[in-house]
Amino acid sequence: MQLPTRIFIGLAAGAAFGVAANLLTHGGPTRFIELVTEPIGKMWLSALIMVVIPMVISTLATGVAQLGSFKRLGRIGLITIVCFLSLTLLSSILGISIMNIVAPGVDLDPAIRTKLLETYRGQTTDAMGMSSTTFSIDLLVKIIPRNPVAAAASGDMLAVIFFALMIGVALLMIPEEKGAPVRNFLDSVAHISIATIDLIMRVAPIGVFALIFSVTARFGFDLLLNLAHFIVAVIAGLVIFLVVGYSLALLLVARVSPRTFFSRARIVMITAFSTSSSNATLPTTIRVAEQSMGISPSIAGFVLPLGATVNMNGTALYEGATVLFLAQVFGIKLTLAAQVIVVLMSVLTSIGVAGIPGASLPFIMVVLGMVGVPLEGIAIIMGIDRLLDMCRTVLNVMGDLVTATIVSRFEPGPAVAPVSVTTSVPSQKNLG
Ligand code: ASP
Repeated sequence: MQLPTRIFIGLAAGAAFGVAANLLTHGGPTRFIELVTEPIGKMWLSALIMVVIPMVISTLATGVAQLGSFKRLGRIGLITIVCFLSLTLLSSILGISIMNIVAPGVDLDPAIRTKLLETYRGQTTDAMGMSSTTFSIDLLVKIIPRNPVAAAASGDMLAVIFFALMIGVALLMIPEEKGAPVRNFLDSVAHISIATIDLIMRVAPIGVFALIFSVTARFGFDLLLNLAHFIVAVIAGLVIFLVVGYSLALLLVARVSPRTFFSRARIVMITAFSTSSSNATLPTTIRVAEQSMGISPSIAGFVLPLGATVNMNGTALYEGATVLFLAQVFGIKLTLAAQVIVVLMSVLTSIGVAGIPGASLPFIMVVLGMVGVPLEGIAIIMGIDRLLDMCRTVLNVMGDLVTATIVSRFEPGPAVAPVSVTTSVPSQKNLG
């Protein structure tokens, strides 16, 4: 049985057993979750995250160095940024539009609203504290790390990316023979990272089972019913963008078959869904891009780490949709101008959202504050955020893969994949 199929079985079984355990034990088998499934899930997640920093530094630096010239780096950088921004803008507009059409907040029972606000009030305090500090000019200043080792140690991805980009650019500047030892070393680190991810993914069915079981067994399913309209509307938006939006981009711009693309990306989607983290999924995304999609390592190494940190299509859609929903819940009518602000702020703040679970909550509060919706409203969606986080992370990660595919149509990389562990890398044409 192939690995993606086994992982999918892990996912389905985790969900089925989790829901059954939840229903049978009323609130979930807490001890079992705490002592068995949660630790197993955390171990697998940590193993994935363990590879992120070495992989980002090595693939990004060698990726840039392999581009061969500043002109090419500039062209690829430009296409990448244009793709990231257009996809994020379109997804945010879709999120807002759906909420305007469905208006799920209008008919939310005030009694349920009060109950949710009271139940989750405690949990919002952290996010509230963070929201005042997360979105400031500091975000820009901190992109340049004073100490790259400290940045790597604290998982500060933007700073790590900046450092790796600098190393790649410097490698481009110096004579080939001077850079060769470092290039070879980083190339070797990239190979080793991919092999390590191969190993970690072998136990993915167990890791995915444990993560999904822990979430579903604990989940408050009555909440699901209370907020069903909102949940369905958000998931519909995400699915429409995934299936229609990305397929159009793949067909019209990248000129590859969406069917083949999605079938090869299955493992990436399941990993994103079960980990709720673009960062934890990144090594798998790079491996699939290089090994199954034939995207050159220089492009995958450049676009994907950057995308996992700044390109969050699902998050932008969710941010816009949530702000509109909460405005409806509180009976606040947002004018067209206010909605344009919500779209622009969702795009802008999604860039600052880290690729980890629940990272967008403080940023949603920033946007809420800007258009005059009560910040504590975030408590209303707190209980279902994890479920929607799993879904929006799939879109976040797939947007990066779509961009890498588009870039590689315009700027195909070297035919031989120096960073791939397999020698038989299928060509980009295989997707078409
Ligand atoms: N969990 C998301 C990601 O990792 C970020 C978020 O929207 O919270 O992509």
